Amino acid sequence: MSIGVAKAREAGYDLSQLVSNADLAMYRSKARGRGVYTIFDPEMSESHKRKILIANSIEAAIEENQFSLHYQPKINLNGEIDSLEALIRWHHPELGPVMPSEFILVAEQAGKITSITQWVLNQASKELAELMSIYTPKIRLAINLSVHDLRHSELFDWIYNAFQAHSVNPENVEFEVTESAYLDNFETSESLFKRLHNLGCTIALDDFGTGYSSLSYLTRITIDTLKIDRQFVMELDTSERSRLVTISIIDLARRLSLKICAEGVETISQWEYLKALGCDTLQGYLFSKPRPLADIKNQPDYQRQAG
Ligand code: C2E
Ligand code: CA
Ligand code: CA
Repeated sequence: MSIGVAKAREAGYDLSQLVSNADLAMYRSKARGRGVYTIFDPEMSESHKRKILIANSIEAAIEENQFSLHYQPKINLNGEIDSLEALIRWHHPELGPVMPSEFILVAEQAGKITSITQWVLNQASKELAELMSIYTPKIRLAINLSVHDLRHSELFDWIYNAFQAHSVNPENVEFEVTESAYLDNFETSESLFKRLHNLGCTIALDDFGTGYSSLSYLTRITIDTLKIDRQFVMELDTSERSRLVTISIIDLARRLSLKICAEGVETISQWEYLKALGCDTLQGYLFSKPRPLADIKNQPDYQRQAG
């Protein structure tokens, strides 16, 4: 059971307002895992309005080109740029910059993520040629897929069509997907990623270590890389447990012949620690924040920050 409590006074003694406030509070209870009650707070209707505005702006954002892609490098053990992750950005005409951590979730809930994914696939495919000429023809571009994308049987065709339209060699593309997205749609994911793998794409399991507790599935899925979640990297200097988990993940990956990428590297000590453990690639603000293509053109090298 999930309970929402609202006060008549706060609703101006308007019955439908009162019920809608109670409803918003009840949805908070659901989001908190049910079995709790939540008391309505006016901030909830503000955040609800913002969500509605975001959800209703997505189609126009695509038509009016408000989205863009930023690219964040992944650095190999020689300190060279091995690949780039495409991360979407949105400059909303009223709200200003809105980050994907906010709008991807709203888009998923509103059933609008697939149009964003199609936009990303096309835009990334279009910009890949330029990235190849800046770096190397072998550069890999990583594209994030949402759990909802994996439920669409047409996803393979969207990808294939985007590749065709922009003459993309699939060997230049990696897809990042979280373990829960993969496993929640095991059958469709497995068949999709097998087909993409056959084309030459690689697959990385994103945010690894935070989702499932069972590891047996790792031997049954089609992946190339484990991406250690930022949470473990962040705690390397302070938590013995995170160090042990990180060591174990790297050991596990090696035994399964998978590559390892660590994300969220911000300090030199994290970098040195992960390098010594033999992580294949590293990604994080220490090397570079995600940057737009125009910036990269002016300054292709990453600028390691003092960490
Ligand atoms: P993610 O795929 O785990 O991406 C990593 C996030 O961590 C990015 O946030 C990146 O900017 C940030 N990050 C990278 N290095 C550091 C670091 O050293 N320190 C800290 N604190 N953060 C770092 P961003 O760009 O805001 O994206 C958030 C999430 O939104 C992504 O998490 C991904 O799940 C989703 N997302 C972004 N672009 C797309 C997209 O095109 N499609 C889909 N489906 N999801 C996307
Ligand atoms: Ca990712
Ligand atoms: Ca991640």
